[in-house]
Amino acid sequence: MSKTIGITTTVPIEVLMAAGYMPVDLNNVFIGSTERERLVNIAERAGFPQNCCTWIKGIYGVCMEHGIETVLCVTSGDCSNTVMLMEVLKLRGLEVLPFAYPDQPDAGLMQRALEALAGRLGTTLARAEEVRTELEEARRLALEVDELTWRDGVVSGLENHLSLVTASDFSGDYEEYERRMGKLLTQARNRKPYPDNLLRLAYIGVPPVFPGDLYQYIERNGARVVFNEVQRQFAMPSPGRSLSEQYCNYTYPYSIFGRVNDILPQLRQRRVDGVIHYVQAFCHRGIGDIVFRNAIDLPMLTLEGNNDFVLNQHLRTRVEAFIDMLKRRSAATSGVSAKPVT
Ligand code: SF4
Repeated sequence: MSKTIGITTTVPIEVLMAAGYMPVDLNNVFIGSTERERLVNIAERAGFPQNCCTWIKGIYGVCMEHGIETVLCVTSGDCSNTVMLMEVLKLRGLEVLPFAYPDQPDAGLMQRALEALAGRLGTTLARAEEVRTELEEARRLALEVDELTWRDGVVSGLENHLSLVTASDFSGDYEEYERRMGKLLTQARNRKPYPDNLLRLAYIGVPPVFPGDLYQYIERNGARVVFNEVQRQFAMPSPGRSLSEQYCNYTYPYSIFGRVNDILPQLRQRRVDGVIHYVQAFCHRGIGDIVFRNAIDLPMLTLEGNNDFVLNQHLRTRVEAFIDMLKRRSAATSGVSAKPVT
């Protein structure tokens, strides 16, 4: 039986699986738990500060409560908080393996980073490449779900989010993931598409702490999400010809301008009317809002989540007002009178 290894973000799981580990994305375990508040409390009682990101505290709580013994922590290309989280996990007796994405998407540097990881885990890149081939079908299905979201309008923004965000670890069983995606695709193909006149939104930024609420609230207000930026990256939409190319084409760990180059053509192709940029409270990535606002020529709502796992009234009002503004804008350009704002 494979040994579980916790991961703190999307990493080259092919290498871990080649070494006989079953990767478990600790973020997904945390956000999928019915005890999220308790997991965060465990971290705060251990001394994690109030002004530390909820995802980091949730990961710590999961490690403590779910008997995780080994964790692969990304020390470069994700989150500076992970470096200190790693030290605390060591203190608690966990086995902690660091992995650093190169500071730029260079295939040679990536090759060396992957070789070092494979060597440390006692496997080879050749074996990891075989695992990459084994995972191709699961990733193809995830990207097909994405296509049915924006092109055919038969998959909801939430289904899209859940299908893609899970591609970081395939919930520990990629064959079961393939079955689930196959079932979803069959169901979706028999659905009536969303009406053409619904506003089309993009969601960019790290995954939200209140996914269910957010996507459903957007739909209740006459819009739908047709692009989940970081989640789509988890499914490796540009796999290249090797693991090193695949993880260079994966945009999240590198310069934000690489992400912009991925986002802009998607906004055009998916005919997006407006963008929601989600930022997590106390996260350095929030500063990237300046770059996105400079590069994206569409109305943008910056939405900050913290440790409320539901969309609170303040955030609901902001989402509703944003969608109303987009409706008025769209009505003005099409010459149709807008529904009055109530
Ligand atoms: S949301 Fe930001 S601060 Fe929190 S874990 Fe992710 S990168 Fe780090």
